[in-house]
Amino acid sequence: MVAAPNPPGPAVRAVVSRVLGAVRMVRRRRRNRRLGLPDMDPYAIFADIVAGRAPSSKVYEDDDVLAFMDIRPMTPGHLLVIPKVPARSLAELDPVIGGKLFQVAQRLAAALRESEVRCDGVNLFLADGVTAGQEVFHVHLHVIPRTPGDGFGLRNRATTPPRADLDYLAASIRGAAGRAQPNAASGPDGK
Ligand code: AMP
Repeated sequence: MVAAPNPPGPAVRAVVSRVLGAVRMVRRRRRNRRLGLPDMDPYAIFADIVAGRAPSSKVYEDDDVLAFMDIRPMTPGHLLVIPKVPARSLAELDPVIGGKLFQVAQRLAAALRESEVRCDGVNLFLADGVTAGQEVFHVHLHVIPRTPGDGFGLRNRATTPPRADLDYLAASIRGAAGRAQPNAASGPDGK
C-alpha cells in the first residue's frame, strides 16, 4: 500500500503563497491596463488615499478610520473601511483600531439600508493574506450591500466533520489563542 503524502509544510506553503501573490499581481496589472486604470501599488495605494495623494469617494472619516467607495464594486455601493495607520495584515493591526473598523462598518451597513443604494442585506468581508484573496496590503473591511440574485457569495460547499474533529481543532485554536500576540509583525501572506 502506498502511504498518503505528507501535507506541505509551512515553508512550502509560504513559497506557494508568494508565487500565487506574484501571479495575481501580474493579472491585476494586465486588468488595470485593460480597464485603463492606473497601476496601483498594492502596498501603498490606501496610504496614498489616506494622505490625499490618490483620489477616493469618501463616505466616512474620523481620526483613526476612513471609509470610501470600492473602485471595482462587487455590488453597487460596495465600501471599504480602513485604518488610517497602515497595517498590512490583521496581525499588524492594533486590536482597538480593529474594533473601530467593525463599529464604522456596522454604522455604514445601517446607512446603506437608508441610502439610495439597493440594499436588502449586507456582507462584511475581510481578506487576510494572499491565500485568502488579499490584493491590497493595508487591512480593509469590505461592506457589501446585497440584493436578491446579485450573484455575490462564498462558493465553497460546507462539509460535515464529526464532532471529535471539531473538538480537536477547537482545543488547538483555544491553545493558540492563549498564546497569540494580536499585534505581532507579519508579512502579507500572514507568516
Ligand atoms: P482585497 O482583495 O480584499 O485586497 O480587496 C482590495 C479591494 O480594493 C478591491 O475590491 C479593489 O477593487 C479595491 N481597490 C483597489 N484600489 C482601489 C482604489 N484606488 N480605490 C478604491 N478601491 C480600491
